[in-house]
Amino acid sequence: MFIGHFAAGFAAKRVAPRVSLAVLFLAAQLADVLWPIFVGIGLETVRIAPGITAVTPLDFVSYPYSHSLVALAIYGVALGAACWWLLGGRSTFVVVAALVVSHWVLDVVSHRPDMPVYPGGRKYGLSLWNSLPATLLVEIAMFAAGVWLYAKTTRPRDAVGRWSFVALVVFLLIAYGANLAGGPPPSVAAIYWIGMVGSVVILLWSWWTDRHRTIASAHD
Ligand SMILES: [Zn+2]
Repeated sequence: MFIGHFAAGFAAKRVAPRVSLAVLFLAAQLADVLWPIFVGIGLETVRIAPGITAVTPLDFVSYPYSHSLVALAIYGVALGAACWWLLGGRSTFVVVAALVVSHWVLDVVSHRPDMPVYPGGRKYGLSLWNSLPATLLVEIAMFAAGVWLYAKTTRPRDAVGRWSFVALVVFLLIAYGANLAGGPPPSVAAIYWIGMVGSVVILLWSWWTDRHRTIASAHD
């Protein structure tokens, strides 16, 4: 899953308005932020296998440290506790930790049965990626709902807050489309470099956007 994770990050602003969108994105995407690094240093393995699913040509051979339920639960508690300590708010810990773990649940829906419960443990996957139309339907509906909730929860402070948000949404949709239509990547190195650069760009962009927006209403 790709934009479905960002949908979760956008939507979470509704329940944790004091937490920056960048932190919400980091939490929802932590597995995919760590994964290119772990592949790059040889800790985890991916293989390019065109046709393995209708949506992605990647065979996730092994990724227990970035994508197992137990690893994500540990990272979720750690990141949630750090955010709670820094930002306060009863809901901060719960929302951030839940977002980190939500990555596992959403990836289980889309992936082949390659999502481990713990390193070496049983793997799960419901294979939504076997159908391109079903994948698009689910992810775009989730994304639309997430963007709508974020847009309703916040309002722009200035022109940057308005247009940077619009551009970020468009950028994520274009990145998603390019991912789907672009064909198999040329090499594993290309996968992890694009993954790492993409994470940095999206996190900085969302941090900048969120700073130029404010909470729309006080009733939260
Ligand atoms: Zn993932």
